[in-house]
Amino acid sequence: MELTAWTYSPAPESRQVVSLRPSYGLFVDGEFVAPRGGGFFPTVNPATEETLAEVALAGPEDVDRAVGAARRAYEGRWGRMRGTERAKYVYRLARLIQERARELAVLETLDNGKPIREARDIDVPLAAAHFFYYAGWADKLEYAGLGPSPRPLGVAGQVVPWNFPLLMAAWKLAPALAAGNTCVLKPAETTPLSALVLAEICQQAELPPGVVNVVTGPGSTGAAVVSHPGVDKVAFTGSTEVGKGIQRALAGTGKRLTLELGGKAANIVFDDAPLDQAVEGIVDGIFFNQGHVCCAGSRLLVQEAVAEAVLDRLKQRVETLRLGDPLDKNTDIGAINSAAQLAKIEELAASGEAEGAERWSPPCAVPERGYWFPPTIFTGVSQSHRIAREEIFGPVLSVLTFRTPAEAVAKANNTPYGLSAGVWTEKGSRAQWVARHLRAGVVWANTFNRFDPASPFGGYQESGFGREGGRHGLEAYLEAGDA
Ligand code: NAD
Repeated sequence: MELTAWTYSPAPESRQVVSLRPSYGLFVDGEFVAPRGGGFFPTVNPATEETLAEVALAGPEDVDRAVGAARRAYEGRWGRMRGTERAKYVYRLARLIQERARELAVLETLDNGKPIREARDIDVPLAAAHFFYYAGWADKLEYAGLGPSPRPLGVAGQVVPWNFPLLMAAWKLAPALAAGNTCVLKPAETTPLSALVLAEICQQAELPPGVVNVVTGPGSTGAAVVSHPGVDKVAFTGSTEVGKGIQRALAGTGKRLTLELGGKAANIVFDDAPLDQAVEGIVDGIFFNQGHVCCAGSRLLVQEAVAEAVLDRLKQRVETLRLGDPLDKNTDIGAINSAAQLAKIEELAASGEAEGAERWSPPCAVPERGYWFPPTIFTGVSQSHRIAREEIFGPVLSVLTFRTPAEAVAKANNTPYGLSAGVWTEKGSRAQWVARHLRAGVVWANTFNRFDPASPFGGYQESGFGREGGRHGLEAYLEAGDA
């Protein structure tokens, strides 16, 4: 049967499971407190442009208070706590995230614009899984590969972006806490709400005051966190440009640093690939989360012999994607997170046309209010085009072709980034050969965008350094101890 739009009745998730406060303070020393200097700013639902809540803007004085609270907690009860006891708190956080999963998923969708199906099935369960996974490490740190008695670093300053607000917070907090550090977390200014509910969850879990602090605000708040002299370790996920600035600012301070930055991943399809699965993987690779994904498969490299067949099937598949209300369980493509991000995507897409690539989008009605961009595919892309080189961070795919495996690898590696890649082929030996020759932190074979808390994730070159996830993720929060 052919599926048409009318075969899907709206299936909206209830908004009522979230009770938003009109305004949120900063979470410092176990309590929500008013900001001392900066006032408040609105956070907006990008699908409707409605203001969801006012959120405190933390200035340097507020950041100083948060770092002070984290330091006291580190030197006090948390720093002296045995791993077995710390594990119980981290497990408790995982369980409470599960208990409040529906609320967190709706909240994330409201604040970020992502489809509820993704928030519900990916962001929230993976966030809980990270806390579960690292809880298991808290009393086994001597097996982390850093000697028999590794030590925590102290106070971690952690800055995260808006594309996976809760999940990125979990990636930062879970290993830091399991390793015995205390944290000052700065969520992105357009998506602060799930971190603030996570702060409520820390209260519910009776985490000792000061172990986790959440300071909201723009880039200047992030800059105050990373440059605070009381911070021992900085973990940053965000754009390459800001990451470079942080690296410069921290040079010579002795602070430990990990950077998870941008990407321009190649998704390579060989002529022997199972094409239907590959098409699903291409769609997932670039249209998942509106393409707001650092490891998105934004460059499709397809072998010439199958290029036409792949593109035909891909366009047919993209025509079935439903764009619209992110709270509708049928929605595949939600809203772009902010007006600024939409403008960036529009500008880069326009450059694709201006530089001679061919632009295609399916017929697709776009809601009147909110920030939207239809799924878009560019063909006739050459390596010098901006859309082949720059991270678009939106639902825009650039398609290039190749003839030989060596050419595929050369084109895939022709990028200043190196975060992820995908390879589609029936030949195991070819997948292995390609993976060995790609300069990318993660290479998926016959799948894409698979995440597991036990698996390390991170980049090469301008995609940053350090790994999050798995045993490797602990190294960022521990120093080797002596026997
Ligand atoms: P961004 O760099 O503008 O902001 C990220 C965070 O840094 C925000 O919280 C922001 O307020 C803060 N910030 C801004 N200026 C700062 C400064 N000078 N000092 C300290 N903090 C500062 O990035 P974005 O637009 O929010 O996020 C998108 C980027 O994040 C993309 O490039 C994407 O690839 C990257 N990303 C990477 C990963 C990864 O794991 N490698 C994961 C998700 C997103």
